[in-house]
Amino acid sequence: MEHQKLLTALPSVDEILKSAEGACWLDRYPRRYVLQGIRDMLQRERDRIRTGGRFSSDLQALLAEMDARIQKLCSYSLQPAINATGVVVHTNLGRSVLSDAVLRHVTEIAAGYSNLEYDLEHGRRGKRYSHVQRLINDITGAEASLIVNNNAAAVFVCLVALAKGREVIVSRGELVEIGGSFRVPDVMSNSGAILREVGTTNKTHAYDYENAINENTALLMKVHQSNFRMVGFTETPSVERLAALGKKHTVPVMFDLGSGSLIDMKPYGIYIEPTVQEVLSAGADLVTFSGDKLLGGPQGGVIVGKKELIDIIAKNQLMRAVRVDKMTLAAFEATLHLYLDEERAKKEIPTLRMLFMKPEEIKKRAQKIAARMKKAVAAGAADIRIVQDASQSGGGALSEVLLETFAVAVRPSGMTVNALEAKLRKQKPPIIARIKDDAVVLDARTVLDEDIAPLAAGVSAAISE
Ligand SMILES: *Cc1c(COP(=O)(O)O)cnc(C)c1O
Repeated sequence: MEHQKLLTALPSVDEILKSAEGACWLDRYPRRYVLQGIRDMLQRERDRIRTGGRFSSDLQALLAEMDARIQKLCSYSLQPAINATGVVVHTNLGRSVLSDAVLRHVTEIAAGYSNLEYDLEHGRRGKRYSHVQRLINDITGAEASLIVNNNAAAVFVCLVALAKGREVIVSRGELVEIGGSFRVPDVMSNSGAILREVGTTNKTHAYDYENAINENTALLMKVHQSNFRMVGFTETPSVERLAALGKKHTVPVMFDLGSGSLIDMKPYGIYIEPTVQEVLSAGADLVTFSGDKLLGGPQGGVIVGKKELIDIIAKNQLMRAVRVDKMTLAAFEATLHLYLDEERAKKEIPTLRMLFMKPEEIKKRAQKIAARMKKAVAAGAADIRIVQDASQSGGGALSEVLLETFAVAVRPSGMTVNALEAKLRKQKPPIIARIKDDAVVLDARTVLDEDIAPLAAGVSAAISE
């Protein structure tokens, strides 16, 4: 009986629309979401009353909930987040962060018309890829280059253009799944190329490739194992060895490098794959890599190598389907410009800066975060301390390379660490952290300067909720 009374006491959609709040919402938000927000909350209210979870109706509280619901429906879904995971190239958090110089170029090009495909000198149609080709060739030492939407597309278009209906020889140890749906055998069959597996899981010799070469062989292909590693009794021929073999039998050698580093990272204790320059000078005819992994640019796939091969790929119909847009091109051009001066690239490309950050510098950053946090969080509400830890570079690249880092470990007194981790994700901006040793661990390596204040505020808000 009590339920019935509460149900009839609920206002109707129309009544709410006619109230001061309703008028205000209709003024500010699209009608469709105002209606949906009101209906969602009324429905939830009815359900609560029916299940005995509500004993009185508080109209003001209900209106506030509707307001929150409508705002949520009307706000952007894609939003900035604070990456406190320490994983520099985090695919789920957007991989590489772009620098100011890069963003300026993107904004300038995207905000108006440009010479995207217009030859200013001759006043006729120009080529979209021309804006970045010279830079890529100069930096990598490649004869020719192309850019497509991502590295998966780069590999695919190479296979379609050069190996459709023909055989591609790949080591059994390199038939990997990179993540998402990029699996070498599947990419191969979708492209129409015929996979010719050679060797064993752990050992593949140059003669395995050589024995498999026949008149229908289109490519010898190497795939970087990315987030997978084999140790122990293993062997795979070097790029030099494969290149010599390819030359002998006039079969091009293609290397899907994955991350595509343009800078030697060994001095920073990071070594998993050779640089693009090294692979090219070792004799690879075609190399593909991502724009937003170790290169630190926009999402994209770069194809570099021999001009005669690049020319064939450029003419393939599929190029149109994987064509990059002007924002990507602008971001590539500006990122590559930074590489013309390697010291500048290391300072200004956020991915490189974070990867190469010295432990002392990260420690200072962690101390700054902790100090702010202690000021914001009520005394006794949490234990906050600096811990030494290891961060991953990420991006399916170098995942097992652990870099010395410093983090802020937070142990809340009034809730579990899992509860705190979940609350952090619901802050604005959301804070993504990990849990370790019964603490929420915030790695200072990937916390950007402008994130420090909102991070402290977000942790404080989450703890007091
Ligand atoms: C990451 C990766 C890919 C896929 O690159 P995307 O740019 O994410 O499409 C392909 N191959 C290898 C070896 C990779 O590491």
